[in-house]
Amino acid sequence: MHPFTYTRVSDTRAALDAGRRGGRYIAGGTTLVDLMRETVERPESLIDISGLPLREVGVTERGGLRIGALVTMAEAAAHPKVRTLHPVISEALELSASAQLRNMATIGGNIMQRTRCTYFRDVTADCNKRVPGSGCAARQGYNRTHAILGTSDACVATHPSDVAVAFAALEARVHLLGPDGARQVPFADFLLRPGRTPDREQALGQGELITTVEIPALPRPLRSGYLKVRDRQSYEFALTSAAVALHVRGGLIREAKVAAGGVGTVPWKLPAVERHLIGERPSEALWAAAAARAADGARPLQHNRFKAELLKRTVERQLRTVGGTK
Ligand code: SF4
Repeated sequence: MHPFTYTRVSDTRAALDAGRRGGRYIAGGTTLVDLMRETVERPESLIDISGLPLREVGVTERGGLRIGALVTMAEAAAHPKVRTLHPVISEALELSASAQLRNMATIGGNIMQRTRCTYFRDVTADCNKRVPGSGCAARQGYNRTHAILGTSDACVATHPSDVAVAFAALEARVHLLGPDGARQVPFADFLLRPGRTPDREQALGQGELITTVEIPALPRPLRSGYLKVRDRQSYEFALTSAAVALHVRGGLIREAKVAAGGVGTVPWKLPAVERHLIGERPSEALWAAAAARAADGARPLQHNRFKAELLKRTVERQLRTVGGTK
């Protein structure tokens, strides 16, 4: 492991000062420490922020849900407000990683986690994300688990988080605090598509911290849920997944929030599917017709052509599970 300095901070000002000087923030460390062991990541300086007061889950005056960046995955999944207001978040978290990891990993760290592309983690392979300009071994290599949406010539890696798919569907906002003060970023703008710079993954400035993820209030009643399709039933990343939330009133779908995971370089919002649903009456035919739009724009690679059809079936099944039929 590359040598590094370690500083533990207990207040936000000290964290921001250290971050401005170029230190890397660490909390649960479940991704970063692994990558440091493999020398994929070589930070000179770590700032342990796990003691900062960012561990609250609460409801805003307008009925939105706020989850502190240092709330662990296990705490968030089990929290009564999360389970009641947005079961899709609890389900996505509970289908992620192992119980041990969920006890350590934080919400902020989860959405910051890096790709599971095997070439990214193999320091002998060409990888534009790890070494800009070196090439992309996955494009000509084995790419069964890679992305079919949002890809670029430079990178085709998926974003691995499940809960980020739920956040994308629910149009969360990420609250940030940095040397220049606080700001909010829509979740859709926080995680970046690779373009020509796949090494830049988040819209974070130097020294900025995630403080909270906020889910805006949505009309009630709202039913939601998460479906994850994977090669084995536990401790595995998604081949495809679907986060769905539906508000049905008077027999018609008034609000639809849908996003997919395992298929995009970022959690993939599905506005064409949502538009197809709104104003319609739940039915088997509607779920199939809406889900048929899920893979619009897909650009499969040699080994992952199956993902386009699997994605449509995943979305259709989850629409049926959440929306039922009348
Ligand atoms: Fe690297 Fe992205 Fe290519 Fe994987 S897909 S090898 S992360 S550039």
